[in-house]
Amino acid sequence: MGGVLLVPVGGVPFDLVVWLRREVGERLPGSLRVLVFPSRVYLPLTVYDYGRRQFDALRVNSFLAGVFGEVLSEGWRVVGIVNGDGYVDGLNFVFGLASPESGVASVYTWRLRGGEDGLGGLFRVRTLKVTVHEIGHLYGLGHCSNPGCVMRFSNSLEELDSKGDTFCPTCYERLSRAVGEG
Ligand SMILES: [Zn+2]
Ligand SMILES: [Zn+2]
Repeated sequence: MGGVLLVPVGGVPFDLVVWLRREVGERLPGSLRVLVFPSRVYLPLTVYDYGRRQFDALRVNSFLAGVFGEVLSEGWRVVGIVNGDGYVDGLNFVFGLASPESGVASVYTWRLRGGEDGLGGLFRVRTLKVTVHEIGHLYGLGHCSNPGCVMRFSNSLEELDSKGDTFCPTCYERLSRAVGEG
C-alpha cells in the first residue's frame, strides 16, 4: 500500500512536478502510486541559512515530516521538490537528501539548471535523476557502482549527467522486494 507523494515546495514550477509524477511512476514498481500534492508548501524561515543562502536539508526534511505526519504514518513516502539550494553540515551543497527513518526526502533544483537550456529538458532530466535517486534511498537502497544506474553517487553536475535515470536490474529487484513485489 501507499506510494510516493511529490510536494511542490516554494516557487518550483508546478508543471515540473506534474511531469515528474509521470516519469517517476514509469521507473518504480507498479504497486507504488505516485501522486502530486495539489498545493504548494512553503518553508518556514527557520530552515533557511541567510549567510549561505541555502536551505538546511535536514531541517527541511523534518519540517515536511511534521506537515505530512499523517500520510507518512500510512506508509507513504514524501518527496519535496524545492525551489532553492540545499546543504547539510560538512557539505557545500546537496542535490537532494533522503531521511529514510522518517520517509521524507527533499530535492534542490537550484543547481540543476542547464546553462542556456535554463529550465528546459536538461534541467528536467537532472531533477528526475535526483528525485528517483532519493526515492531509492527512501526504500532502503544504497549507492550502486553500476555506472549507468540512477543509484550511483553523484555530487557534481558532470557525474549527474553521466549516469542514467533508471534503476539497474539489481537495484530494481531490491526495490521490488522492498515494496513487496518479486
Ligand atoms: Zn545517494
Ligand atoms: Zn544499481
